[in-house]
Amino acid sequence: MTALIVAEHNNTHLNALTLNAVTAATRCSEEVHILVIGHGASQPAEQAGKLQGVSKVLLADAPHFADQLAENAAAQVLAVAGSYSHILFAATATGKSVAPRVAARLDVAQVSEITAVVAADTFERPIYAGNAVATVKSLDSIKVLTVRSTSFAACQAEGGNATVETVSAVADSGLSQFVSREISKSDRPELAAAKIIVSGGRALGSADKFQATLLPLAEQLGAALGASRAAVDSGYAPNDLQVGQTGKIVAPDLYVACGISGAIQHLAGMKDSKIIVAINKDPDAPIFSVADYGLEADLFTAIPELLEALQQ
Ligand code: FAD
Repeated sequence: MTALIVAEHNNTHLNALTLNAVTAATRCSEEVHILVIGHGASQPAEQAGKLQGVSKVLLADAPHFADQLAENAAAQVLAVAGSYSHILFAATATGKSVAPRVAARLDVAQVSEITAVVAADTFERPIYAGNAVATVKSLDSIKVLTVRSTSFAACQAEGGNATVETVSAVADSGLSQFVSREISKSDRPELAAAKIIVSGGRALGSADKFQATLLPLAEQLGAALGASRAAVDSGYAPNDLQVGQTGKIVAPDLYVACGISGAIQHLAGMKDSKIIVAINKDPDAPIFSVADYGLEADLFTAIPELLEALQQ
């Protein structure tokens, strides 16, 4: 049995979430390979080769992989899939786009967002927005899995010594074309990898107040900014800050929820955080049921006071 991880990268750097997928893969199988699909992607392939627990890196490098379109990426995975017992992807937008195409073409049932590996064929995954955990046994010969990164520690980034083997690239499927990419730039840490997150809800009232109130606290704490869906839908925060069932799943050391009610769809994205602090003026807000520290207060007074105390 050998597990294959489809690496996530930007042709120069391996995405940190791939390291969590390696840990999941090592629990499925003793031998773990990584497939890097890209263009001019020798650097992420080398980085993948250094990961502890990885014994081989396959590099498929071609101009039509430059933007890693899902159709071409899935075709490349399928070209090597026959040698593997497990094919794993990080449960990110990219992984969620490629994995189902691979599973469908292999005619197997994908097991999505695994949070634990019970045995090589048995996995845990959350259902009902994280309110129940299903244990799923797969009888398929190849298990196609997406991995919830917050449930697995990252493997060691150094110390491995895997060989990098170039595999022949499949032809361009011609089914899709790269048009453009808009990357939001922020000085703040990336939400999914941040150790501290300051998150705001509808209570912030406007985009200006969201920034003016939360940014100084996030800067003071070295935190990433997050938001509830209500804050995103109201235009207070960009879409990529959304935490929750239909946003990002996070599990930082500290999550500070400001003016967020704690709807189950929001909790689904952050309730595994190590310490949760909630500031809300409603004592019955459900966020207090998951909070380690709750402050019943108006956030527009509490946050400046907290900031002042932190700066002393
Ligand atoms: P509200 O529920 O309006 O809560 C605002 C809170 O702020 C209240 O608790 C209030 O007491 C408090 N407040 C108001 N003023 C102040 C003040 N001055 N100081 C302190 N506290 C104050 N939501 C997500 O967040 N993420 C998701 O991924 C997500 N996915 C969803 C998927 C589906 C299919 C559905 C149906 C819903 C989803 N939602 C998601 C929406 C979710 O149900 C809630 O509507 C949303 O989380 C509410 O956001 P909120 O807490 O910011 O707003």
